Amino acid sequence: MPLDVSAIRRGLRKWYSQHKRDLPWRRTADPYRIWISEIMLQQTRVAAVIPYFERFLTLFPDPAALASAPEQELLAAWAGLGYYSRARNLQKAARAIVKLPRFPSDYSALLELPGVGDYTAAAVASIAFGRPHAVLDGNVLRVLSRMLAERGDIKSPLVRGRLRTFADTLLDKKRPGEFNQSIMELGATVCLPKQPLCGNCPVRLHCDARQQGLENQLPVSGARPIPHRQEKHLLAIEKQGKILLWQRPPDSRRLAGFWELPEREQVPGANIYGEPGEFRHTIVNTTYLVQVSRASVASHPSRFTWLAKSSLATFPLSTISKKALARLLE
Ligand code: SF4
Repeated sequence: MPLDVSAIRRGLRKWYSQHKRDLPWRRTADPYRIWISEIMLQQTRVAAVIPYFERFLTLFPDPAALASAPEQELLAAWAGLGYYSRARNLQKAARAIVKLPRFPSDYSALLELPGVGDYTAAAVASIAFGRPHAVLDGNVLRVLSRMLAERGDIKSPLVRGRLRTFADTLLDKKRPGEFNQSIMELGATVCLPKQPLCGNCPVRLHCDARQQGLENQLPVSGARPIPHRQEKHLLAIEKQGKILLWQRPPDSRRLAGFWELPEREQVPGANIYGEPGEFRHTIVNTTYLVQVSRASVASHPSRFTWLAKSSLATFPLSTISKKALARLLE
């Protein structure tokens, strides 16, 4: 079908103005806030991000506050969001930003910041500064591949290239920020991965997948890896209102600086009492079956520390340890 770019832009603009969700980062033009929201939203659902976003901005209201934040405070504010390299890169980027005369406004300058890739640079440049860069995230790729009825694998560079060209063609250069947000919003709320709500879609008359009845088959994406499974047995060792924890060293591959409950093998002399609780926890491609038991110790290795239960909220605790403690306090 011939591409009516103006009609698509008009339809998206009208739909977005009527249906966009009221989200805290949409009430501001502050590039710092928009950047923080974009980093938080990577790999994390909107509903989960909102309270973190608000608390984070209260604690670190500008790049200078973030640049000078103690690492433990930063990680504690991020604890639970996962992918902690995002928080560390935010701070590195804030330290670079405070040395500049102002917040970088163009795509290539944003791309220089640690943790900022093509998507984030395009999002911040377009939303905060009105620069004409089309965003291409998972939601947008889904919408575009359906509109084109693209049958190739969206993970292949060739197909990505086609979708990138389509995104650049569609982008409304007069209102790039609003356009980018409208197509991302369409992917998040209407053009859903399963069973898209085509009846509510402002671009349905321009959508080849819809015309061909392929909306549920597209996009084609590489096979998902099968998750690994692992078991873990954590110990909750309490004494006089304190819990025994250890801190991951700064060069730890994962969760550097975070505090964890000990695993059973780390405290071989522990005396376990009571029935263990159990839960599952998935990190990237690994699903852990976690057992957690109450235990006591006569002595413990020197790298463990007793921390007051009442102060735990001020320490960055791994999500798995938080879940285990919550399980015991139920
Ligand atoms: Fe997605 Fe359906 Fe809209 Fe096509 S018509 S873009 S498949 S919601």
